[in-house]
Amino acid sequence: MERRDETAGREGPAALRSDGRDDALVAAAVGALANAYSPYSKIQVGAALQARDGRVFTGCNVENASFGMTWCAERTAIVKAVSEGTREFTTLAIATSLPRAIMPCGACRQVLHEFAPKLRIVVVGMDGHRYATVLEDILPEAFGPSDLSRS
Ligand SMILES: [Zn+2]
Repeated sequence: MERRDETAGREGPAALRSDGRDDALVAAAVGALANAYSPYSKIQVGAALQARDGRVFTGCNVENASFGMTWCAERTAIVKAVSEGTREFTTLAIATSLPRAIMPCGACRQVLHEFAPKLRIVVVGMDGHRYATVLEDILPEAFGPSDLSRS
């Protein structure tokens, strides 16, 4: 798994470098976490999904007393986007109220893969450290739409 600390100044593949281009998207993710409904975990998560057409869709975690019905910030953002007719994405920023950055859960990785298997993902925690990866590196050998092909 490619996971690079972009605040430490290490060199990485161009696709994984942040060099300021993600600042607005990260700020949108940080803004989105203020809307989190998380009375149970007390963890706020915000996501901001950059569409290829330039639009940005945000989401937050929405918990439920029936824990299995809890909805993650990442899935909130992509469902908003798809429901508004957008299906191509380039980058997802995820911010959390935890000190350290967290990566998307398995369910979110699968849902994101449906539309953007090569999605670039930038995660940031309250400590300010920013990490970047690509979805195909954190969901290898993924099951996807082509697996349902009959040919
Ligand atoms: Zn998730």
